[in-house]
Amino acid sequence: MIAQKQSVADCMNRLYTRGLTTTSGGNISLRISGDRILLTPSATDKGAMNAGQIAEIGMDGTHHAPGPKPSGERMMHLEIYKRRPDVQAIVHAHPPMGSVFTVCDVQLNTRLIAESYAILGEPAVAPYALTGTGELAVGVADSLGETGVCVLMKNHGVLTVGRSLIEAFDRMEVLENAARINLHARLLGGMHQLTDEQCAELAAWAGRHG
Ligand SMILES: [Zn+2]
Repeated sequence: MIAQKQSVADCMNRLYTRGLTTTSGGNISLRISGDRILLTPSATDKGAMNAGQIAEIGMDGTHHAPGPKPSGERMMHLEIYKRRPDVQAIVHAHPPMGSVFTVCDVQLNTRLIAESYAILGEPAVAPYALTGTGELAVGVADSLGETGVCVLMKNHGVLTVGRSLIEAFDRMEVLENAARINLHARLLGGMHQLTDEQCAELAAWAGRHG
């Protein structure tokens, strides 16, 4: 358990150090059994997290005290774990470039770079709702659907899921890179994207359909 808590803390420190979230924003969770989740705490410095600060909650949201107060966005994590048995880890962050695509009516094009299409496919978009509410939890889980791996949360941030912490983290990092490439390609002009055929080839390579 302590090693799993440490891996969640390490992942959050890496997220912050990598510039993918703010000191106060973002949260990471890991499913450790059918009904237990580890989750980063609320109101804690995201760049200096340790294993002792990681909270443990039940699927019903019960906080297994004594311990740190879990993130206020826990409902969003639980809603996804309930619907998606394949998901073992969730990373939610406020990455600066990815978040640009949550505030502008411009689609994030993952077809510019092979890596982003292979790793992310087409990102989902969730409507805005107040942080910590059931409305946000349902909206994000609905947008993610049965097979989605990343969600752009309108006027808020980004959420990625994975079969492991590193997979969810990698998807966040790849999405942020894709957003940066989108913005720079628009500045430079003359942008061209992968063809439908090349995208289908990548999806098959990545084990996805379409
Ligand atoms: Zn957030």
